[in-house]
Amino acid sequence: MTRPADAPDTLTLIRPDDWHLHVRDGAALEAVVPHSARQMGRALIMPNLRPPVTTAQQAMAYRERILAAVPAGETFEPVMSLYLTDKLPPEEIALAAKAGVRALKLYPAGATTNSDAGVTDIRHTYKTLEAMQKHGLLLLIHGEVTDPAIDLFDREAVFIDRVMIPLRRDFPELKIVFEHLTTKEGADYVRDAGPFTAATITAHHLLYNRNAIFTGGIRPHYYCLPVLKREIHRLALVDAATSGSARFFLGTDSAPHAAQLKEHAFGCAGCYTASTAIELYAEAFDSVGQLDKLEGFASFHGPDFYALPRNTDTITLKREAWTVPETVPYGDAVLKPLRGGDTLNWKLV
Ligand SMILES: [Zn+2]
Repeated sequence: MTRPADAPDTLTLIRPDDWHLHVRDGAALEAVVPHSARQMGRALIMPNLRPPVTTAQQAMAYRERILAAVPAGETFEPVMSLYLTDKLPPEEIALAAKAGVRALKLYPAGATTNSDAGVTDIRHTYKTLEAMQKHGLLLLIHGEVTDPAIDLFDREAVFIDRVMIPLRRDFPELKIVFEHLTTKEGADYVRDAGPFTAATITAHHLLYNRNAIFTGGIRPHYYCLPVLKREIHRLALVDAATSGSARFFLGTDSAPHAAQLKEHAFGCAGCYTASTAIELYAEAFDSVGQLDKLEGFASFHGPDFYALPRNTDTITLKREAWTVPETVPYGDAVLKPLRGGDTLNWKLV
């Protein structure tokens, strides 16, 4: 790729937020929270602990543990969510709203890491969704069917037809975020779905297609769910993210797993990108000459959709080649960040 002569060498942005982040708990949490705090103003914290975060009280306790891991001198605001189950009572929604919880996450049962307690049939949750619509809480959706008869690569597109379209019709004013969008069908759907629907897009789905998982051998650190798709889908996601549309915003879905659990016969799904997130997104936007669209995607569209104030401080990136560390400490284990050992061309100052 050739670089246009007028491409900038530094880039200053209002501080971004990460609207989809996994930080786990305990020693793992202490290892990863400082990475996000260095880059992001806020992050929407996913609730898929074991057991999952299903009450306002649990969410507030989790928030305190996250804040305790933020290094002195950094400000980082965890935005909390609850894990939607078939049995989550509608009464919990008022308590959650009052405690400052902003969203509930819908995992179809069995869709990904720690999703066994997920929703078996969306209709079981309708009373709770009504309460969410009333209290202004967002519904964050892992948009894949889990039907084993559906090919893994088609599960997002089928989810749109089977679940999203009926759900959207039944709850027209429920704010819904289609999380970690991975397909052209998903991007087309969200673009046209109206003002109550938005989507997060990860850096890895903007940078890679499914060949990355199989280049020179099986590459477990490129395995995530929803899985990387064909190039046509990656291009559609890059188009959506760089279009300037307020429907699309930054959510890394950074998902730490100890390296030995990814390099395994049953390797865990998830890419670790929190330590270099904004650099990876800058590379994706730069690759199509759209760096000027990065600030809207990373720093404005998310808080606007969540009805939260935008950040006011800034970060600066400079164009400088550097090597991402191959491993970073993770409790008693190590993490292998995406692109570990490789060069990135943007660096957070
Ligand atoms: Zn996730």
